[in-house]
Amino acid sequence: MSNKNYIIGFGRIGEQRELKKILEKFWAKECSFKEVQQVAYKLKKRHWNYQKEAEIDFISSNDFSLYDNMLDTAVMLGAIPKRFRDLKDEELYFSMARGDKTNIAMEMTKWFNTNYHYIVPELSVVDEYKLDATKILDEYKEAKNLGIKTKINIIGPLTFLGLSKRVDAGDTYELYGKIIPIYEELLVEISNLDSDITIQIDEPIFVKDNEVKLLSLIKPTYDKLTNISDNINIIVASYFEHSNEATKILVHTPIYGLALDFLHAKENINSLSIIAKSGKKLIAGVVDGRNIWKNDILNTISLLEKITKTVAKNNIIISSSCSLLHTPFTLKYEDKMDNEIKNWLSFAVEKLDEISLISKIFFNGIDNLDSKDFINLNSNTAANESRKTSSLIHDNFVQTRIKNFTKLSRDGKYEDRIKIQKKRLGYKDLTITTIGSFPQTLEIRNARRDFKNGLITKENYNKQIKRYIDNCIKFQEDCGLDVLVHGEPERNDMVEYFGEQLKGYGFSENGWVQSYGSRCVKPPFIYGDISRPKPMTLDWMIYSQSKTTKIMKGMLTGPVTILNWSFVRDDKPRDEVSKQIAIALSDEIDDLQNAGIKIIQVDEAAFKEGYPLREKNIKSYETWAIRDFKIAVSSAKQETQIHTHMCYSEFNDIIKTIEAMDADVISIETARSGNELLKIFKKIGYKQEVGPGVYDIHSPRIPSVSEIVTQIKLLLEVLPKEQLWINPDCGLKTRKWDEVIPSLKNMVKAVNIVKAELDD
Ligand code: GLN
Ligand code: ZN
Repeated sequence: MSNKNYIIGFGRIGEQRELKKILEKFWAKECSFKEVQQVAYKLKKRHWNYQKEAEIDFISSNDFSLYDNMLDTAVMLGAIPKRFRDLKDEELYFSMARGDKTNIAMEMTKWFNTNYHYIVPELSVVDEYKLDATKILDEYKEAKNLGIKTKINIIGPLTFLGLSKRVDAGDTYELYGKIIPIYEELLVEISNLDSDITIQIDEPIFVKDNEVKLLSLIKPTYDKLTNISDNINIIVASYFEHSNEATKILVHTPIYGLALDFLHAKENINSLSIIAKSGKKLIAGVVDGRNIWKNDILNTISLLEKITKTVAKNNIIISSSCSLLHTPFTLKYEDKMDNEIKNWLSFAVEKLDEISLISKIFFNGIDNLDSKDFINLNSNTAANESRKTSSLIHDNFVQTRIKNFTKLSRDGKYEDRIKIQKKRLGYKDLTITTIGSFPQTLEIRNARRDFKNGLITKENYNKQIKRYIDNCIKFQEDCGLDVLVHGEPERNDMVEYFGEQLKGYGFSENGWVQSYGSRCVKPPFIYGDISRPKPMTLDWMIYSQSKTTKIMKGMLTGPVTILNWSFVRDDKPRDEVSKQIAIALSDEIDDLQNAGIKIIQVDEAAFKEGYPLREKNIKSYETWAIRDFKIAVSSAKQETQIHTHMCYSEFNDIIKTIEAMDADVISIETARSGNELLKIFKKIGYKQEVGPGVYDIHSPRIPSVSEIVTQIKLLLEVLPKEQLWINPDCGLKTRKWDEVIPSLKNMVKAVNIVKAELDD
């Protein structure tokens, strides 16, 4: 092994989503678990081979998972929540992940600031933990049998504890003494596997603003784990942000090396001198594991040269910035993509070659490249040059407009606007509405697929969408909703729909990224300056409004959400891209209001997930995120009512930011938490109107009238009726009509009961 290059980890869902497909088949009881294992083996083998072919020195095992690595870690530690303890093997594993008839699933939440979700382990002081190293040992042996000696990836004890939750009262770090001995046992088992072994211990928790308590555990932990056996080299990996506080401590432990992200955390540069002094290996994350752009290899070489000024070259190993799990698999199936654009991209498999080439240039020199590598370097340079000048990317019209754009917020103060709006819209207290989407039926999805594949005409497709809208409106009128929506049948996805119509956006055929378990997303990508060649939602809204005398709410996705759910170009600051999107949306809003749409909702479902990991970066994110929401709605006249929707309930830390967005009405998710989370709105004297969800749409359960009555009354304990709207928690797209119809009917009945009581 020449030990020159390194991958933090590889994806597992498979380049054709093989894992997703077999898992879903298994869950539907259409195949055996053995078949799942066969597919899993095939994928591991293929992924190892890709890395081997690219001449990657450090290839990982245990980066694979049938569902999630945090869940695997919980299983490895024997941290099985009580309710699952009668179960075994795969039944246990998948019940923990997904729940079963009798047990609710474990909670799932976002992995740092990515769109990947992990299973949150549940710990308690009364539980006893016990090692199960099977998966880790087996995977190592599987690779070894194929002639590949892997480094073993495990999630570190401090990150594991930091991301878990206590089901009894108390802090998870109090359980340190119970967890650490299991890790020690694990390392003993691993040390018996081979004569020398590298373990990558992921400690991404180190990139947060950590308390002294956590920092004080680093040295004892890594002193202990490095003391298990002489044949183990431990590399501690962090990513997405800098981990300077932890690095300062880790250099004083006997670990072998540190993997640091130099792309998302330039500050890691500040740790170079102490790393150099310690003589430890530096695994330098210089190829972006979270984006899809070709690396600028010559640029990367300069970055590495800069690092070499402090850290000796023979202590540097070239790496991806994080696991390639966060990037799609391969460009090889993208045959519909424009060639010029495709030439700017690099997915996981292509990134392997980049890392390999960078390490050859860095360690052997350009002059020693063989002709094939030399050609690859030249084409990389040419591709990056073409991005600097291509007219597909750089649009003077957009750039001039953004420079001269001065309308940064809408006219009028909220207090004045709302009076004008109430008069114009004539709505009462506790107005009933929905969040936008209605069930995406199989019929609609098939029609869209057929239309995209050229199997049905545009007229035919539009006719089907119109029929859906007609029915959707009719249902809402019959049901007694006050402010209607068209149901979003024309949208496959709330970001992709807009991306498809904006200039500067690209799409892949097969660029799937795991979101959680078997669920994958295919984010569109922003490659160039964004503009709106023509209205995006106008025709559908005009049509929908013409079908009812009630108010039809226009429906847009906000700039920050569009940005956060796309891969974003890396040649411009994110906030500038977001501003371009905002300006395009402001044109759409103007068109909508001029066509008679009186209420327009701008969804910011992903507003909160864009928050930076470090406190010091929050202010600047909030500043531009608010700026761009306000720019998007800046064209709205005072009488046009602007709504926004956010898919959370935790607003305690960000309520001032939400207020500053200055939407006339905000709808949020509160059904699962009663009125607890609404209290912050009252506490700060929030003036704008609020639609706290009155029932949870994430489950197929139909809420009863009485429970919705109870929920509304709880809300009324916090905010006055004049300030409240009534709606479900979120869009109804993933539900079935036979769930939605009775649920909404019950919601209307409940409102009427409450209103009657209030009138008495
Ligand atoms: N309008 C969107 C819908 O109803 C909002 C969904 C979301 O914010 N996630 O589906
Ligand atoms: Zn939502």
